[in-house]
Amino acid sequence: MNPDLSVVDRTFFASRRNILVLGYGISGKSLYTFLKSEGHNVLVHDDNIPDIPDKADLDNLNQFDIIVKSPSIPFMSHNGHPIVRRAVLSNIPVISTFDAFVLHNPDARIIGITGTNGKSTTTALTYHIMKDAGIDVQMGGNIGIPYFTLPKSYIYLFELSSYELASSKHLKLEVGCLLNIEPDHLSFHGNFENYRNAKRRILDASQTKIISFEDKWSIGNYGGTDNVLTVSSEYQTQAAVYVCEHSLMVGTKNLILDLSGLLNLMGQHNYQNIGFAYTICRHFGIPNHIISKGVKTFHPLPHRLNIVKKIGDILFINDSKATNPESAARALATFVGYKIYWLVGGRSKKTDAMSAIARYLGSVQKIFLFGEATDEFQQMFVGIKTTVDCQTLATALHAAYNEARKESGPSVVLLSPMCASFDQFDDFEHRGNTFVEIVMKLEENAESGNHEN
Ligand code: ADP
Repeated sequence: MNPDLSVVDRTFFASRRNILVLGYGISGKSLYTFLKSEGHNVLVHDDNIPDIPDKADLDNLNQFDIIVKSPSIPFMSHNGHPIVRRAVLSNIPVISTFDAFVLHNPDARIIGITGTNGKSTTTALTYHIMKDAGIDVQMGGNIGIPYFTLPKSYIYLFELSSYELASSKHLKLEVGCLLNIEPDHLSFHGNFENYRNAKRRILDASQTKIISFEDKWSIGNYGGTDNVLTVSSEYQTQAAVYVCEHSLMVGTKNLILDLSGLLNLMGQHNYQNIGFAYTICRHFGIPNHIISKGVKTFHPLPHRLNIVKKIGDILFINDSKATNPESAARALATFVGYKIYWLVGGRSKKTDAMSAIARYLGSVQKIFLFGEATDEFQQMFVGIKTTVDCQTLATALHAAYNEARKESGPSVVLLSPMCASFDQFDDFEHRGNTFVEIVMKLEENAESGNHEN
C-alpha cells in the first residue's frame, strides 16, 4: 500500500467532490453533516451500522474522488480495512478526518498534542489557561467536540491520537507537542516503529515543536534543531522549561510556580503536563501569573489519579484511565512513601509491563488482581510481590480495603489497572465509575464485604 497516493492538492475541496465517509461514529457524523452543507456529494459506510443516511453502494469505489475515514479504521498495510485496501489499489486517496479539517481550514492556527500518556490532561489544562487568559480558542479532536462541529475560532487546540496521525498526510500545525512515547496500541499499528512514525508526524508538520527532555528518542531525533523547545519534569537541565524539586522553573533561577501540594495535578507525570502547557501558553504570550493561576484552578479530568475519598489514613484513588503499564508506573511513583494496595487487571496490553513498573514496586504491599489478565500478572509477580486473585473489581476493592485498614500510617487503595477495560466493562469510565460507587458506600468501621459487580 503506497501511502503517498493519499496526498491531495490543498485546494482539493474547493470543487464539488464525490466523497465516501468511512465510519459513522461521532466524528464521522459531524464530518458527513459538514461536507453535505458544503455542497459535496456524500455517501456513508459503517461496518457496524446498517441503517445510515446516504448509504454507499460499495461495488464500485471509482464513483468516489476521495475517502475520508474515521481514526479507528486501520490504514496500515498489515491490517488495513478492506475498503481502504481496495481504494488504494484503485488510486483513490484515503485521508483522515483531521486531514479534511486542515484542508478546509488552511489558515487556522492549530496546536496539536500527542503522546502515549498525558494527552487529555495537557490539552484540557492548556485550554483552561488559554480561556482564562481571554484567548479565542476551541478544543477538540480526541477530546470533546469533533473537528467539524467546533465553532469557528482563532486558535484550535487538538488532542491527536496515534490512530488519527497514522493516516494523516496534510498536517500543518503552528505548535506540535510530543509528550512521551512508549509501546502501546501495537495491535493497531503492527509494531513500535509504525507507532512512533505515526507520532512523529506531528513534529514534522509543526512550526514550533515541543518535546520532552526525558524522552531519548525525541531528543535523539529533534533535540537541538531549529524551533524545538524542550520540557523536563525531572532535572535542572538545559531544557527551556523544567521542574526541579517541585518548582516549575525557566532559566537558571526563574521560579514560575511552586507545585508542591497541588492536589489537582499530583505526581511528576503531571509536572510534565504542566511544563508542556506552560510552554504552549508562553508561545501565545500569556503572562506567567495567569498561567500559574490556571494551573491552580484546573479541575482534574475524571479517572486520572482522582482522590475519591479518605477513610482514616487510607486514600482511595481512581486512576482507571491508566490503561498501560507506563501510566500505572506514574501512579505508583506519585505515592512513594505510602503503603500501596494496588488494584490491577482487565485486558492486558501485552507489553513488557515489568520493565515499566519494576523501580516503583517498593511501596506496593499487595496486588489485587481482577479480569482477563489475572494469570499473566500472577506469573509476572511470582517471587516479587504477593498477588490475590479476586476475579472482579468489587472483590479486589473490598479485599484491598480490608488489608489496608489492618495497618497504620498513610496508605492508598489504588485503582491504576494498567490494562484496557473491555473484558468486564464498557470502557475505562465505566470501570472508574464502578470503583467510585463502591468506595462511596464503604464505611469506616464496618468489615468490608465481597460484593460481586
Ligand atoms: P491520554 O489522553 O494520553 O490517555 P490522560 O491525560 O488521559 O492521557 O492520562 C492517562 C493516564 O496516564 C492517567 O492514568 C495518568 O495518570 C497518566 N498520565 C498522565 N500524564 C502522564 C504523563 N505525562 N506521563 C505518563 N503518564 C501520564
